[in-house]
Amino acid sequence: MNETTTMQLPPDLERKYSELIGRYPVKRSALIPMMMYAQDHFGYLNDDVLKDIGTRLDLNFTQVTETLAYYSMLRRKPGGRYHIQVCTNISCMLRGGNELYEHVQKRLSLGNKEVSPTGTFSLEEVECIGACTGAPAMQVNYDFYEDLDPDKVDAIFEQLQEGKRPKPVPVISGALHERAPGEVPVVSRMFGVPNSTKIDVYLQYEGYQALEKALKQMAPEQIIDEMKKSNLRGRGGAGFPTGMKWSFVPKDTSKPKYILANADESEPGTSKDRPLMEMDPHQLIEGMVIAGRAIGSHQGYIYIRGEYRYILDIMDAAIAEAYAGNYLGKNIRGSGFDFELCTHTGAGAYECGEESALMESLEGKRGYPRIKPPFPAVVGLYGCPTVINNVETLSTVPAIIRGGGEWYAGLGTPKNGGTRLYSISGHINRPGIYELPLGFNLKRMIEEVAGGMKDGKKLKAVIPGGSSCPLLSADEIDVAMDYDSVAKIGSMLGSGGTVIIDEDTCMVDLARRIMHFYAHESCGWCIPCREGTAWLRKLLDRFHEGGGRSEDISLIDDLSKNMLGRTFCPLGDAAALPTISIVKKWRNEFEDHLRGKCAYKPAEVFAGAH
Ligand code: SF4
Repeated sequence: MNETTTMQLPPDLERKYSELIGRYPVKRSALIPMMMYAQDHFGYLNDDVLKDIGTRLDLNFTQVTETLAYYSMLRRKPGGRYHIQVCTNISCMLRGGNELYEHVQKRLSLGNKEVSPTGTFSLEEVECIGACTGAPAMQVNYDFYEDLDPDKVDAIFEQLQEGKRPKPVPVISGALHERAPGEVPVVSRMFGVPNSTKIDVYLQYEGYQALEKALKQMAPEQIIDEMKKSNLRGRGGAGFPTGMKWSFVPKDTSKPKYILANADESEPGTSKDRPLMEMDPHQLIEGMVIAGRAIGSHQGYIYIRGEYRYILDIMDAAIAEAYAGNYLGKNIRGSGFDFELCTHTGAGAYECGEESALMESLEGKRGYPRIKPPFPAVVGLYGCPTVINNVETLSTVPAIIRGGGEWYAGLGTPKNGGTRLYSISGHINRPGIYELPLGFNLKRMIEEVAGGMKDGKKLKAVIPGGSSCPLLSADEIDVAMDYDSVAKIGSMLGSGGTVIIDEDTCMVDLARRIMHFYAHESCGWCIPCREGTAWLRKLLDRFHEGGGRSEDISLIDDLSKNMLGRTFCPLGDAAALPTISIVKKWRNEFEDHLRGKCAYKPAEVFAGAH
């Protein structure tokens, strides 16, 4: 192929390429979405396809392939017609994900990353796919199947073998449930409303009223003041006050400003942004336009993890409706304010959930974090001031503007305003997404809201806010779930991914699985994280297999502590913190393994090691 001419493509893909290239002020931003759509069409990315994309974006082949290599969903070799991805991360593991993966391997006679000789199936063991409350789960291409067991899996494969598409889970399992005692639906108020993604339905539920108010009755400073009064803290993990973050954006700049929604939800145990977008996409759009008005931005992007393709389609449809109703675009509802919004797909990289890595990825590069300061509010996307907020944070904005900051703050505790979504998964009777006021007691969450322990087992541990949080033991759960109270007992509220762990769980095995995830996701840029996670993974594997040495317990603890605070981004801490807590609180289980005993695994686990 001549380097200056482009491939003949099917009209749909040609149209998609042109539309993607037109979305961004810098062409390279279209690189990852173009590769994703090309892969969907061709099945994989060969040299000709990549050279063609490079030509269209003024990039050379090396620039394209070195970016590609960073993203786990992009393939250089053909996969099967049905690409089966089974999650074995913590929430799935606790509900039989490993056994399910073994069953699928046997059923397909395939190992990890193998393709069947006929090309019908390929198989991959994957990290968290955001289906924690519906665990165990798998994806077939982009379709989600949840709450699985071997029989359900067999029924799915029978249909696939007949060339039929089994009905995917239309709504995240566990997101829809009878409201539990204590729930206060604010951001989740549309869950379960029929046709809730449609703008006509949204308008019947006070939809876009907050936007009209923000555009026509409030000055930008008043919006920010209202956000400050609400005490809303970021729901992605860090818990930074949202109003304060918005106020850091310079007012007197000639540069464009950007609003980014971080929809790269991938913290194991966390699956709450998925139903928020799936069931209420207009709420997020409305929140983003209001945020744009507050900081003087006229362009927003929603960065959606690649695995959530069906969510991207839902968001695209809602954005089209919002443009048609003039809730997006020029002179919104006659206010004189302009705001453009579009989606952007990721391609499989947990690290892109870190705000500066997400911006690098949105610029069409590897998702390496940037050194801070400067912070994104001053130097963000394309070097311009940028506000980046989690989906839930932005989705909460319309309710705050409608009801007022004081009303929202009053739902929670001092300095911890409002409500938040919890995805409760693991050994619990009613895994699900629950909206509770900040400060709700964790013990009550487990016993009253989520129906108590599965199979009447005793509680051993809780991960309060996603896999990066230090674990709580059973005697620490009488705690108010707000940022400050959980911090006081040495953990974090994180992303609201609450994982319940019963007495039959081997904590060495759990530590091993958590470390596998972080070692897999480390971008390798800084040595303590790259080497530390890989070393810890090896040590924990060895312990789990029965080959641990007594000095390894301290080594695991030391290595983890030496990673703390010594890495460019929080992933190093995320890997270290749960590990340190497990070694500290369940050291006896490491010692039991040294003696060739594991209370939870059969003796053959240790065969050959002792
Ligand atoms: Fe990359 Fe890990 Fe360093 Fe973060 S801490 S920049 S993921 S190597």
